[in-house]
Amino acid sequence: MENTIIINPATGEKVAEYDRITINEAKEKISQANKTYTGWKLKSFKERSAFMHKLADILDENKEEYAQLATQEMGKVIGQSRKEIEKCALVCRYYADNAEALLTDEIVKTEATKSYVTFQPIGVVLAVMPWNFPFYQVIRFAAPALMAGNTAVLKHASNVQGCALALEQAFEKAGFPEGAFSNLNIDSKLVEQVIEDKNIVAITLTGSDPAGRSVASIAGKNLKKTVMELGGSDAYVVLDDVDLEKATDLATLGRLQNNGQTCIAAKRFVVLEAIYDDFLALFTKKMKAAKMGEPTNEDTYYGPMARKDLRDELHEQVLKTVGQGGKLVLGGEIPNQKGAYYPATILADLKPGMEGFDNELFGPVASVIRAKDDDDAIALANNSQYGLGSGVLTSNNERGEKIALQLEAGSSFVNKLVVSDPRLPFGGVKNSGYGRELAAYGIREFVNTKTIWID
Ligand code: NDP
Repeated sequence: MENTIIINPATGEKVAEYDRITINEAKEKISQANKTYTGWKLKSFKERSAFMHKLADILDENKEEYAQLATQEMGKVIGQSRKEIEKCALVCRYYADNAEALLTDEIVKTEATKSYVTFQPIGVVLAVMPWNFPFYQVIRFAAPALMAGNTAVLKHASNVQGCALALEQAFEKAGFPEGAFSNLNIDSKLVEQVIEDKNIVAITLTGSDPAGRSVASIAGKNLKKTVMELGGSDAYVVLDDVDLEKATDLATLGRLQNNGQTCIAAKRFVVLEAIYDDFLALFTKKMKAAKMGEPTNEDTYYGPMARKDLRDELHEQVLKTVGQGGKLVLGGEIPNQKGAYYPATILADLKPGMEGFDNELFGPVASVIRAKDDDDAIALANNSQYGLGSGVLTSNNERGEKIALQLEAGSSFVNKLVVSDPRLPFGGVKNSGYGRELAAYGIREFVNTKTIWID
């Protein structure tokens, strides 16, 4: 069995090695998670909330250590890694304080003496998680799942196993019972056997669409519920009344934060003809000025991609788009330096059928698309296999809202980059997946929504 080798994407050097566990060891951990569940589900919200608050405190207290680890393993710019840990603490506190209210029984008036809906925990939930927000993606699932009374096992991405271990230890330090949250450092080939394990009742996955299809079909065969949060190719419609300075600031940040590797990043900019050339010129200037560099430097705007293979695949997509007639306005060359760096790149005049229009570009590459008018912009934005987030940039909120309502996506933000906020549901339509995370919708995904009738 091969160990997990962690390569720092900024240097290309090995920084750590972690032992993989066997399927039998994984099954033992799942069995422990199930034993723990029998006691954990009986705890009151107040008791579970105390553990969750402690976890939030531990995340805050160890913020610097965890942030450095994330940056070292996947290349996130250090300031953004710190913000990620802060957001984890926020989500823990949100569910610690609100889970009970979100899961309160709902009385329904019928001809019964009493009838109501109650939300009960279901057991051990498996989370298959990606590397792009190595702490947040896990906490976003685990905080509601545990507050609802479930226990959790994590199959984290191989390249962030240090973060996975740190999370497991953070739950331990917070005093959660052994098995409430455990990390399974297994090869992804073993996920099938984990899903088949009788003690796994449901699965949540965040990641690519091939990984999602595979896990969802295995879960389907085993009749186990899934939530899928997959890729996106979010369109931002840029209207002709927009403040171009503000719009291009947002576009640059939206495309480059997290080194371009966010599922809800602004990826396709659908710009009205009247301002297309001006938008493109200013956007190009700002993308060019953004400083690429060592992610531990405080003044770096964006760092390397998480792995060299991902960088090389992205470059192939850029070349393919150019071959199909896309215009390379900026970047598009692999820099001659160590690490998995890729420069801020802009592909313009893209049309349906081109790689940069049809598929997700998971890195610092922006697709710019010309639209004739509002209706054409909506049609182009919706001409996608994905539907995760979407946005409208305009100085007219009413016009923006009208368009936001017509975009085929799990969320539409007017004049703000799409973010996940614990108070609001998060998820997609089409190939971006199904089910929701966060808010009441997220915590109710992994519960038994049970009817009680007293005649
Ligand atoms: P993957 O989807 O391959 O990895 C995400 C997680 O799924 C990891 O834990 C991975 O494990 C696991 N996994 C992969 N394949 C399978 C499988 N067949 N069965 C079970 N588990 C599996 O993402 P990549 O790292 O390869 O990134 C590639 C693309 O994924 C990106 O370019 C982007 O399009 C998308 N992506 C989307 C994210 C999002 O937030 N929606 C986040 C990250 C990536 P292991 O690491 O061991 O392979």
